[in-house]
Amino acid sequence: MSDKYDVIVIGAGPGGYVAAIKAAQLGLKTACVESWVSKDGKHKLGGTCLNVGCIPSKALLEISHKFEEANHGFADQGIMAKDVKIDIAKMMERKTGIVDQLTGGIAGLFKSNGVTTIEGHGKLLANRQVEVTDSDANKKVYEADNVIIATGSKPIQIPPAPFTEGYIVDSEGALEFDEVPKRLGVIGAGVIGLELGSVWARLGSEVTIIEAQDSFLPTVDQQVAKDTLKQFKKQGLQIELGSRMTGAEVKRKLVYVNYENADGKQEAKFDKLVVAVGRRPYTDNLLAADAGVNLDERGFIFVDDTCQTDAPGVWAVGDVVRGPMLAHKASEEGIMVAERIAGHKPQVNYDCIPNVIYTFPEVAWVGKTEEQLKAEGEAYKVGTFPFAANGRAMAANSASGLVKIIADEKTDRILGFHVTGPQASEIVAQGVIAMEFGSSAEDLALTCFAHPTLSESVHEAALAVNDGAIHIANRRKKK
Ligand SMILES: Cc1cc2nc3c(=O)[nH]c(=O)nc-3n(C[C@H](O)[C@H](O)[C@H](O)COP(=O)(O)OP(=O)(O)OC[C@H]3O[C@@H](n4cnc5c(N)ncnc54)[C@H](O)[C@@H]3O)c2cc1C
Repeated sequence: MSDKYDVIVIGAGPGGYVAAIKAAQLGLKTACVESWVSKDGKHKLGGTCLNVGCIPSKALLEISHKFEEANHGFADQGIMAKDVKIDIAKMMERKTGIVDQLTGGIAGLFKSNGVTTIEGHGKLLANRQVEVTDSDANKKVYEADNVIIATGSKPIQIPPAPFTEGYIVDSEGALEFDEVPKRLGVIGAGVIGLELGSVWARLGSEVTIIEAQDSFLPTVDQQVAKDTLKQFKKQGLQIELGSRMTGAEVKRKLVYVNYENADGKQEAKFDKLVVAVGRRPYTDNLLAADAGVNLDERGFIFVDDTCQTDAPGVWAVGDVVRGPMLAHKASEEGIMVAERIAGHKPQVNYDCIPNVIYTFPEVAWVGKTEEQLKAEGEAYKVGTFPFAANGRAMAANSASGLVKIIADEKTDRILGFHVTGPQASEIVAQGVIAMEFGSSAEDLALTCFAHPTLSESVHEAALAVNDGAIHIANRRKKK
């Protein structure tokens, strides 16, 4: 086979592997370069999301939730489960099995779609040439009409808490503890910190999350964030807001953390510390000086709305470019770019990308928050419905949280859709579809929802936007 391709993709995460499959489906001769090698020395596709991100964290969240429920949630339903134990090695084995199955699945999809996998580190040279260095340091240059960069992101390391094997770890390390730490510190109350903190708290760890910002989940609708924080506190997650870490040091097999908050200087002792303060775009040794691709001031590859870089025929998608660092955003961009290369004109609707935090309660949202709309001076109306009034949620013993729908005051068009509660990750899809179709709150209110379902809370929140909810009191009485 010649070394000239229609498309070479660098990186096989959700951005890159999806772009490669779509390009091949569209009849383009496609190769995907990937350098990921797992701890057992095997080359793996799937990127951060499949290997050390979305999938392993969800596996541990599901297992730990079941464990916690069996320990604390069964008795008042009449189920007596005494001394429920967790076998951490078995739990990890299951997680690894799921990861292997899925990463192997991508290799199968590449094969069936005719995508060539090239193992090694890719570097973009001038004129869409890609130099690949394999694990034996052999170099080979490939050529393409189009190159899609999808090299993703890496955890941010902060000077006060240098990673120290077995003690101060990133999210990847926190997915691999071989025992439950007695006391776990987490720096950062963002999505990753909350999810990993929840996993180990449910398994018995005393978890403290230290967060520099004063408000909890500042980008989430604040009514939803406050309701969620209340639930987390009930579960015993200690979340220290407005607390800035100043140093972390490993002494006598413990991590000593110093931080400052409104009450002054604080010190805490943990068995392990997870640093989850964010991720940075990954472009290490990726771009030759004459590749023609520019970075923005934060280190992201500079692209336009269609993910084109400054170099003709070179595109970039996913975590390595602006926008939310989410797997589904990366994949949507990958599909858009493959279709554009094939001559179509699709666009990603960045206003309709859902966000999810897979804690319990789950938190999910799409569109604008009340705070954003206020700041923009938009006139809006709000409908909310609590799961406490939802029969299905009560039957499932998970009746906390709410659905909140925000609609334009004049046109009734849905502008924001927010959920905290059971299966929020699934429920939010209804908001995404509604918004994609330009739905009004009344459109949802006129739709028939099955009874009893959690989704009825969406129906009721939509009814509540125009003060017509049936199963709660409305803000204003209808005249
Ligand atoms: C703990 C955790 C949990 C997460 N949970 C979720 C979640 O539930 N839902 C969600 O939407 N998102 C989640 N994310 C974020 C999600 O993982 C990322 O948004 C997603 O992986 C981005 O996809 P990507 O294709 O841009 O990059 P990545 O998945 O990072 O893939 C990039 C790939 O490129 C390869 N690569 C890099 N440079 C080169 C090179 N020069 N040559 C060859 N190969 C290279 C890397 O090895 C990697 O395989 C989570 C992240 C973490 C860390």
